[in-house]
Amino acid sequence: MEFKPVVVLSRCINKEPVRYNGGIVTDDFAKKLEKYVDYITVCPEVDIGMTVPRPTVVLAKINNSIRMIEPTTKTDYTEKLENFSKTFLENIKDVDGFLLKAKSPSCGVSDTKLYQPDLKHTIGKTDGLFSKVAKEKYPYLPIEDEGRLHDFWIRQDFLTKIFTYAEFRHLKKDLKHIKDLIKFHQRHKYLIMLYSPTNLKKMGNTVANWDKLGLDKTVEKYEELLRQTLSKHQTIKSHINVLQHIYGHFSDLLKSGEKRQFHHLLNKLKEDRMYLMVVLEFIRNFVYRFEDEYLSSQKYLNPYPEELQQI
Ligand code: SF4
Repeated sequence: MEFKPVVVLSRCINKEPVRYNGGIVTDDFAKKLEKYVDYITVCPEVDIGMTVPRPTVVLAKINNSIRMIEPTTKTDYTEKLENFSKTFLENIKDVDGFLLKAKSPSCGVSDTKLYQPDLKHTIGKTDGLFSKVAKEKYPYLPIEDEGRLHDFWIRQDFLTKIFTYAEFRHLKKDLKHIKDLIKFHQRHKYLIMLYSPTNLKKMGNTVANWDKLGLDKTVEKYEELLRQTLSKHQTIKSHINVLQHIYGHFSDLLKSGEKRQFHHLLNKLKEDRMYLMVVLEFIRNFVYRFEDEYLSSQKYLNPYPEELQQI
């Protein structure tokens, strides 16, 4: 692979024992992913000078503001942690996604406990302070925690996005001619359709009419549309739509039993009784059998390295 996604990783995941209790989190998926991505590690709490081990901090809603407080001394770390997060993210040149530690007051993604001002009773869940700043700066990037990535659909979405962003970033670095962007668009046709058939048309028009805007502005507009597209999520329904389009390329060449089998698999997928990977493998077999070059080049069929596939 000529390019690797750049992923910001919470340093306590597989890397260093920097947790409040001196512990480390072992995560097999993050370990497996390491071969295919470049990790930039961060531990916001240690990086602002907190010790290991250290007293725990909590997030509390006080006067309509979310504060990071250490309950025994009532020390407020909010400004320090937010300022660090902003500076850290400003200094990163390239980034395609975030893999952070679940439930942490700094790194948690949507599931960190939020306390009342008494610091004892919870009132809900929220983002950790670092994750909040990352989401503000990169609203279009996948930002997940290691717990959520155990879910097949969330992991599938995360991997698809980090590898697509990385490929586009790589393309942009050396892009000299519109034909490079056209090729990217062709290869990603069904992957873009998966997220937004509407944007697929807009992106196609942008590329086709590139001479009106010129190369640089066309790339800029295309990137904006790509970000909008990848801000959405893939669903079983959107996969079924794409699979039917791909099937349309060779359905005339199939025997009746093969057609029946395809519709049977699709119905089971629709009812969530079938693994997506099984249907994709079924479709891929025909793409290779009929030696369809256009379909073989489609990123939708192989959006990330096969070794990362797991059900
Ligand atoms: S969750 Fe974040 S702040 Fe806490 S130890 Fe891990 S990297 Fe550091």
